[in-house]
Amino acid sequence: DPDTGLDPLEFAVTRNLTAKSPAQRAEILANPGFGMSFTDHMVDICWSVRGGWHRPRVSPYGPISLDPAAAVLHYGQEVFEGVKAYRHADGSIHTFRPDQNARRMQRSARRLALPELPVPYFVQSLRELIAIDGDWVPSGDDQSLYLRPFMFAKEAFLGVRPAHKVAYYLIASPAGAYFKGGVQPVSIWLSEDYARAGRGGTGAAKTGGNYAASLLPQSEAYEHECDQVVFLDEKRNVEELGGMNIVFVYKDGTLVTPESPSILEGITRDSILQLARDRGHRVQGRAISLDEWREGVASGDITEVFACGTAAVVTPIGTLKGRDFIDAQPTGSLALELRQELTDIQYGRAEDRHNWLVRL
Ligand code: PMP
Repeated sequence: DPDTGLDPLEFAVTRNLTAKSPAQRAEILANPGFGMSFTDHMVDICWSVRGGWHRPRVSPYGPISLDPAAAVLHYGQEVFEGVKAYRHADGSIHTFRPDQNARRMQRSARRLALPELPVPYFVQSLRELIAIDGDWVPSGDDQSLYLRPFMFAKEAFLGVRPAHKVAYYLIASPAGAYFKGGVQPVSIWLSEDYARAGRGGTGAAKTGGNYAASLLPQSEAYEHECDQVVFLDEKRNVEELGGMNIVFVYKDGTLVTPESPSILEGITRDSILQLARDRGHRVQGRAISLDEWREGVASGDITEVFACGTAAVVTPIGTLKGRDFIDAQPTGSLALELRQELTDIQYGRAEDRHNWLVRL
């Protein structure tokens, strides 16, 4: 690798002798849903204090055997990522800015006292899995192969300290169109009783505990007939949704998104904001309070509110519901235009002018 001086890893490949037949695969790809079925293989790489990264493998997808004392099961020392692979009309397979996911996984790992997987190893792991399971990348509208890299503490030790043995894995799951029958605005529940992150906490890391903490507030959202939750910080500034960043569009064309050390820095958000800048929009990362949001909607200063992330790309927000109010949100056309522009690049229908795609 020209940047790191690292030699590529040599993966030991064991083929799955009970892989799905082309017919079984076709049936799954016809209606993949999300996160329900998995490809025939997986990748793993071991790490230890003494040996560093070693034993890279591609093996049949299947259960992992863990010691019951494995640290991850007790103290949650774990991080993960989410990347999609897209099939273009010519059959080629591409991922979107995987170096950004690799870097974010390094930042997450640092916060969780896990080792940092070098960026070229991360990207190579995607290549290895696609090399053997490429037929699992669907070709239907808005379909993709969702790649899930993750890393956890596997050392059998109940002392509370960073584990000396860690495993990195990569699995993949075909994903269908997130919105069947077109993109629908979502309703958002304002979580007042629960926070997702705190100052100095792990909010900026993609670690399981953050998602565990979001489950109860998410159930509260469902009880109030909302699709998603929005979290505030201790000063009542808007942070993000359970699994998506939030962006506000103002009357003068400015896009505002919360800037905070305790939110996950989304790669979709970064890309959407770049496309908006390219169109001449002003973009601001700054604190935005719940009051500014509600007053902006009431006065007409805010003209659109949307959420964005890898899974759903861009989702207009249709309603904000709190304990004692329901605010209908204005809906404009910018969110869906930016969504179209981004997916056109991802699926190879538009020029990739920022060199975001990496062919696998
Ligand atoms: N915030 C949270 C909490 C998330 O889980 C995600 C999904 N990774 C995002 C934001 C959006 O990030 P990205 O655009 O990189 O998927």
